[in-house]
Amino acid sequence: MTEKDIFVTYSTNIEKATRELLEKLDIEKEIPNKDAKIGLKPNLVIAATPEYGATTHTEIIRELISFLNDHGYHNIIIIESAWVGDSTERAFKVNNYKSFGVPLVDVKKDSYEKVTVKGLTMEISKTALNLDYLISLPVLKGHCQTLMTCALKNQKGLLSDRSKRQFHTWGLMKPIAALNAAIKADLILVDSICGDLDFEEGGNPVVTNRLLLAKDPVLLDTYAASLLGYDIADIEYIPLAHSFGVGSTDILNANIEVLSKPENVSMPQPTGACRSLAKYADANNACSACYASLMHALKRLKDEGIINRLDSKVAIGQGWKGKSTELGVGACTSCAKFNVKGCPPTAKAIYDTLSDLLF
Ligand code: SF4
Repeated sequence: MTEKDIFVTYSTNIEKATRELLEKLDIEKEIPNKDAKIGLKPNLVIAATPEYGATTHTEIIRELISFLNDHGYHNIIIIESAWVGDSTERAFKVNNYKSFGVPLVDVKKDSYEKVTVKGLTMEISKTALNLDYLISLPVLKGHCQTLMTCALKNQKGLLSDRSKRQFHTWGLMKPIAALNAAIKADLILVDSICGDLDFEEGGNPVVTNRLLLAKDPVLLDTYAASLLGYDIADIEYIPLAHSFGVGSTDILNANIEVLSKPENVSMPQPTGACRSLAKYADANNACSACYASLMHALKRLKDEGIINRLDSKVAIGQGWKGKSTELGVGACTSCAKFNVKGCPPTAKAIYDTLSDLLF
């Protein structure tokens, strides 16, 4: 398998499809040392099971570990951190990760190394930096701020929570690209079984029953963006990662091989729900969890037909610290006349406050 390859398969049998893709690898050539320390990085952004469309299917992880074991690799760990505001340990528990029988590393409790790339200094998990081989297992799904999350953005779970927050103050795009220049996955196996096409925390899963395998995260994300109907210009961190030397956006020269594709499979497109709700927010360096809570609350207000009663935008984000405004959510907007407390606040707390104000 080369950096130019992207293998795709469609199946309702997740274990079989995972094995079918992994068989495309010359694993002994890929990882010559049988004692190599191999890290599996799933997406456990929140403590939810995969059918909600946010987290990696456990069948993929189980089959991957079995494949590695079958080829004599046993020095395997799972490494991840949930987003700011949720517990990785709870996410491990909800998904029964202990049953995999490999060590689980919660990055929130790890020690970190400060790494500077393109002028940005970030705290990256030391355990992750000391791996011999990193396999990323992202979920292909939508994201309220970056439109899409797949291979490149999945690396964010290798940061301290402090750096995750800081990424938002830096505008997300450049830091995501820079993070991948600091630590790049060696292999990416994408769970596109039922990702939510609008929200990274799931809730509206769209079944596509698809898995993808690639070595270049930039090429893979370029292809994934096209599957969601986006151009890479829409997702700034992809061309930036290319310009930082992480990989290539040259999709025209990629070798895309679809191993099996059932009849009548078409890719549903994101609804654009986030974009239409974003006009009610005045976001200034908002963290993902905070922003997602606001989007969910706004969606409820929209569904109830009262969102148009909002006569001022809702302030959100770290850029609002110390600034006065009418209405704000989260600790960063504590100077607002009406403020929803929390860091991050829950969608319910935001909804309760906004609906009280609107009635
Ligand atoms: S209040 Fe929201 S935007 Fe501010 S630091 Fe907390 S999570 Fe981030």
